[in-house]
Amino acid sequence: MKEVFEKKRVMHMEEFGFGPEAMKQIKVCKSCGTSCNFTVAFCTDCGKMLPAETLYDLYIRNHFVCGGCKAIISSEYRYCPQCGKQVIFD
Ligand SMILES: [Zn+2]
Ligand SMILES: [Zn+2]
Repeated sequence: MKEVFEKKRVMHMEEFGFGPEAMKQIKVCKSCGTSCNFTVAFCTDCGKMLPAETLYDLYIRNHFVCGGCKAIISSEYRYCPQCGKQVIFD
């Protein structure tokens, strides 16, 4: 039963665009801030070249990724809110 619950929760996060899989598919234009699909090289709004990094890459630079479940955790947490694993900060 636990496994089913875990899967549902991850799907819920993905639906809102906050899950790591969703973030890996988004690139944000540095010129106008438009979110574009990671497969396109140029901004769909202003036509400027998109950065090589996805939203996920940019995000994990400023946050921490849980070693247990790969959830992205804000620096104020000491334990992962998803799996309860203690977060080790450098
Ligand atoms: Zn743009
Ligand atoms: Zn975790």
